[in-house]
Amino acid sequence: MNKPQPPSTSNFIKQIIDADLASGKHKSIVTRFPPEPNGYLHFGHAKSIALNYGLAQLYGGKCNLRFDDTNPEKEETEYVESILEMVKWLGYDYGTALYASDYFDFMYRAAELLISEGHAYVDSQSAEQVQLNRGSFSEPGKNSPDRDRKIDDNLTLFREMRDGQHADGTHVLRARIDMASPNINMRDPTLYRIKRATHHRTGDKWCIYPMYTYAHPIEDAVEGVTHSLCTLEFEDQRPFYDWLLGKLADGGLLKRPLPQQIEFARVNLTYVVLSKRKLIQLVAEGHVDGWDDPRMPTLAGARRRGYTPEGFKLFAERIGVSKANQVIEFSVLEDCMREHLNEVAPRRMAVLDPVKLVIENYPQGQEEMMEVPNHPQKPDWGKRQVPFARELWIEREDYQEVPVKGYFRLFPGNTVRLRYAYVVKCIGYDKATDTVRCEVLADSRSGTDGANKYKVKGNIHWVSVKHAHEAHVHLYDRVFKESLAQGLEHLNPDSKRTIAARLEPSLREARQDAAVQFERHGYFVADSSDASTFNRTVSLRDTWATANSP
Ligand code: ATP
Ligand code: MG
Repeated sequence: MNKPQPPSTSNFIKQIIDADLASGKHKSIVTRFPPEPNGYLHFGHAKSIALNYGLAQLYGGKCNLRFDDTNPEKEETEYVESILEMVKWLGYDYGTALYASDYFDFMYRAAELLISEGHAYVDSQSAEQVQLNRGSFSEPGKNSPDRDRKIDDNLTLFREMRDGQHADGTHVLRARIDMASPNINMRDPTLYRIKRATHHRTGDKWCIYPMYTYAHPIEDAVEGVTHSLCTLEFEDQRPFYDWLLGKLADGGLLKRPLPQQIEFARVNLTYVVLSKRKLIQLVAEGHVDGWDDPRMPTLAGARRRGYTPEGFKLFAERIGVSKANQVIEFSVLEDCMREHLNEVAPRRMAVLDPVKLVIENYPQGQEEMMEVPNHPQKPDWGKRQVPFARELWIEREDYQEVPVKGYFRLFPGNTVRLRYAYVVKCIGYDKATDTVRCEVLADSRSGTDGANKYKVKGNIHWVSVKHAHEAHVHLYDRVFKESLAQGLEHLNPDSKRTIAARLEPSLREARQDAAVQFERHGYFVADSSDASTFNRTVSLRDTWATANSP
């Protein structure tokens, strides 16, 4: 299951790569995953990571992990570490992480080259004037009065900006392209701004910083990236991406072939938000218990909830890549997790809503060990011993005083099998002690000849009262009530419930990274903070749709 899953074979990105390899434009491919270290990775990033690393693996190329850390104001080392941890958790070996800030010197040289060749100028208009003169979709922009400043003066001014001789906001460096372009991004975009800010890696070395749209193409080119995959909102930036790299190649600073930007639709999921800004709000306002709250669609939250890297890869492959914006049903992701967990999670017995059951004809003090398979379809996983005794916990819903039609579990007079143990007959219920009363059919023990004598429809799980591991279980549900409405007024007030459960004793040794299936309930994992707390990863079936339909 640890083998990398290549992205869907029908994807259009693959077709572009195939053509580039066939034509000899590239001998091998280089992709990259370029997070901005200004927040924690979310499920959308998992898709991007799986896509970029998946393509590199499929074609025997490589994928760079590069921090897009060119904006000094929002970035933090804490995020860098978390991102590294999560990429590793997803199972990708990123070798040495790269940092866009390592290319600041190169970016500066590139800017001087553009100035020297008349492709960039220092603009001393105020930010408002620049904005005003940019025009609109229907109106062309107006040339800045500084657009024809002499090359030498531009160079001098730009060096003074770098040397800290001008105040923040007094000048910017702009590309000299076309103020009448129908694409507003081509109307002399800003390349550099003056900003006295301490950078998490370069400290106070710089007081001018490159704009993202300038920095990003250069980062790709410097690293020899062949296919630069980004989300759809950058489509209008592609002409500038090509313009910039073309000018730097013409000037001898970059070698051809240049990287190609390819856009694909960002992943949106129902019932969650996938935007760092909105996720920050959930944490800051205390709607969840932090970044790694298992309800958060962050990878840190996912890991704690018990979602698996293999489940994410399956998801990335299943949804493929698209050119059109798409909203994926959250249940698609959950199904991927179930599919993987079904393969890897051993089965255990856990009673989540306990009521006591007493077997009145079973001797006081007697105990038996029952042999219970770890996975009913995988005999090679072996069996474990589970203690059985006179007093057991069962699920409250497995008993009905007056059975509804079609109910075949415990009610007075009915027989059921206590899974992997005996058949018992219900003889009543004692209100005073809230106890279901039963009698055991002594020759019905599972695995013995007598077991087949009894035909029962109900087959319920149990945990011995004396041996039970009492634990808290968090039952997580969707963060938002509405599939597409993502305002805070649509938060699901029941997204987390905590209950006191009774677990079979082997679960005392549960590990945080090892999923288990609680039979009939779903997949669970011990919480990272405390092994006697379990988190529900996902139920066995999608119950949301039925429970929430009008
Ligand atoms: P956010 O909007 O949440 O801040 P972002 O796009 O700004 O996300 P980056 O750190 O810039 O986050 O993203 C790193 C990479 O992950 C980019 O290549 C980006 O396109 C990709 N990515 C981010 N969100 C998604 C998503 N929802 N679906 C697919 N790819 C995504
Ligand atoms: Mg971003």
